[in-house]
Amino acid sequence: MDWRNWSGLQRAHPATVYTPAEETGITAAVREARARGLALRVVGSGHSFTPLCVTDGAQLSLRNHAGIVAVDGPKATVRAGTTIRTLGPLLRAHGLNLANQGDIDAQAIAGAVGTGTHGTGRGLGCLSSQVTAFRLVTACGDVIEADAAREPELFQAARVSFGTLGVFSTLTLDCRPAYSLREESVVRPLDRILKEFPTLAEAHDHAEFFWFPMADSVVFKTLDRTDAAPGLGRYLRPVKSMVLENGAIWAMGNLSRLAPGLTGPLSRLSAAVGGGGAHVDQAERIFPSPRLVRFNEMEYAVPAEQGLDCIAEIRDWFRKTGTRVYFPIEYRLVAKDDIWLSPFHGRDSATISVHRFAHEDFRPYFAAMEAIFANHKGRPHWGKLHNLTAADCARLYPEWDRYRDLRRRLDPTGLFLNEHLRGLFEG
Ligand SMILES: Cc1cc2nc3c(=O)[nH]c(=O)nc-3n(C[C@H](O)[C@H](O)[C@H](O)COP(=O)(O)OP(=O)(O)OC[C@H]3O[C@@H](n4cnc5c(N)ncnc54)[C@H](O)[C@@H]3O)c2cc1C
Repeated sequence: MDWRNWSGLQRAHPATVYTPAEETGITAAVREARARGLALRVVGSGHSFTPLCVTDGAQLSLRNHAGIVAVDGPKATVRAGTTIRTLGPLLRAHGLNLANQGDIDAQAIAGAVGTGTHGTGRGLGCLSSQVTAFRLVTACGDVIEADAAREPELFQAARVSFGTLGVFSTLTLDCRPAYSLREESVVRPLDRILKEFPTLAEAHDHAEFFWFPMADSVVFKTLDRTDAAPGLGRYLRPVKSMVLENGAIWAMGNLSRLAPGLTGPLSRLSAAVGGGGAHVDQAERIFPSPRLVRFNEMEYAVPAEQGLDCIAEIRDWFRKTGTRVYFPIEYRLVAKDDIWLSPFHGRDSATISVHRFAHEDFRPYFAAMEAIFANHKGRPHWGKLHNLTAADCARLYPEWDRYRDLRRRLDPTGLFLNEHLRGLFEG
């Protein structure tokens, strides 16, 4: 069966696809793939831009292995294939919410955790940092239960391991009592945001901005916890999001492709009308927004204190080169953690995401951005496009060699590697 990722950039023709519904089915799939000499890649919802899930061997999808296993106070143990979208109402039925979420909720929870998926927020880490325990099926087909006390090394390594140490069967997440959020988007000049963002980010639970690089203004978006009841605006929000965000981005993006000279005016127009007013709703409904226009993306995490300098450097690059890009650049904040391969390992970070429409050649733009991110010791989002080598990773991640050694011990035959990953871990 053919497989492609969300953006269509990555394609694969796996020899076998396993879709178990129970943990015993996961262990059986791993053992069988091994016996047949097939490499095995586990896939979530296919929303990574990098070739993490590409394989011509065995592909393992846990889409049938979903739902909540147990809830104990704020801790919810969930099956690894549960999508974040399915998880929202299930958690709410237990009076819980995730502490934070990213822009979409289509990902499988294990897929999101596996790459260090994050939202934005004062003192809030990535989803992987909310994991307190897991069950992992190893390359031998055994199951290891890990948490900070029982298997401290594996616990620190596996929470961001993109399916290279084993297959999560279940994950235990540290959740929050269910809450509502007030979302507000306003348009501000970029210069003002560059000065005020640190103060603004302190004043809100979640703050981020979308900068249209050809306009001097940004859409500044905040989310704050509230006791207010959801208003009628919650019914309008999805419609507005479809029309204003997706429809407008699609139309303007295509127009700027047909008439590149219009990219500047269209960017300015998009930024000017990008303020979306205010809405209140349950957290799991406010965090995600529909993303219907297909694109490719690169994202790097830089030390938080260098984030706005990095944006200023990108602005200088646009001014100097006259490059025309319609798609907005997203800026968010993520708290540090202790996970070995997390982009946020040991440092509070600002993430900067750059995009191009799926039909555009992203390579020259992303290469130029990657050079700027390198000036700030940027670390890539593992699910988003990057060109790092094993040597680059060893420089950027203090625990890289330790991770590689643990990986080799757990998976000596390279069952969980594909070409992309062999380049990173065996290169
Ligand atoms: C439109 C869009 C919006 C996005 N928004 C955000 C955002 O706001 N914030 C952000 O940080 N990222 C974002 N991303 C990136 C996305 O969250 C990550 O790439 C995420 O890993 C995708 O999850 P998935 O379920 O699709 O996993 P996949 O892409 O299918 O897999 C990701 C990795 O997880 C591994 N994996 C999957 N299941 C398991 C398992 N059971 N055990 C072990 N490993 C497993 C896979 O092997 C793979 O290495 C976005 C992507 C898209 C396309």
